[in-house]
Amino acid sequence: MSNARVPRPFFCGNWKLWGTLSESVALATGVRDATAAVTGADVAVGPGFVALATVAEKLKGSALGVASQDGYWEVKGAFTGEVAMAQIANAGARYAIVGHSERRQFFGETDETVARKAKAALANGLVPIICIGETLAERDAGQALAVVAKQLDGSTAGLSDDELLKSVIAYEPVWAIGTGRVATPAQAQEIHASIRSRLTQRLQTRAQQIRILYGGSVKPDNVATLMQEKDIDGALVGGAALTVDSFAKLVTEGVAACTRS
Ligand code: PEP
Repeated sequence: MSNARVPRPFFCGNWKLWGTLSESVALATGVRDATAAVTGADVAVGPGFVALATVAEKLKGSALGVASQDGYWEVKGAFTGEVAMAQIANAGARYAIVGHSERRQFFGETDETVARKAKAALANGLVPIICIGETLAERDAGQALAVVAKQLDGSTAGLSDDELLKSVIAYEPVWAIGTGRVATPAQAQEIHASIRSRLTQRLQTRAQQIRILYGGSVKPDNVATLMQEKDIDGALVGGAALTVDSFAKLVTEGVAACTRS
């Protein structure tokens, strides 16, 4: 299956705190085999740090990429518990998720630290997947557009135009993550269009090249309607990325929807 949609669609699993080493290898190799026929989209899995290098080694030579779920900007030193972007790249990852709302909510991540992490990812040859998104209270207060714009600016501060062009943005409304409550395609498109427009102010037409993923309860049966929206270029997927069948079906449905739109 192929399509020529620009930018190239991208589907990335985020396994969060899931999986032993053997479970991670089994899921990754299962996804690799089940998505081997997919062309016209990039696909990646996001194992925990302990499994990252082993999974990357098993996937070597395949089209399936590996994403870390975080990463630190310093290269080495007295930073107990941290994992450097340099180590992540050296372990064979291609992408680094930064600023996931769970990191912002539970681990004190701020726009400033996210921007430093994104910069460090790029400096080490990784593609940062920069997560932004409003809470339910912010949406209910009519602040979704403003919150997302502020997070976008803050989380990409200090990136050069070229670095921004290499980055992926993931819009993940906090109220839709792991809740089963997906944003409607129109709700998601409204925010994606606002992100694109803000990127366009800085990068003009080149902003069309930047992939803006949607994340928040994406499943095989709702991915198609989301992907038909003009500014939704793929998905960051939690729960539905935890079985081979579900993630492979989601990717296949998502790619098929691109060829129809
Ligand atoms: C996520 O973890 O980024 C996510 C979107 O999770 P879920 O798909 O389970 O809502």
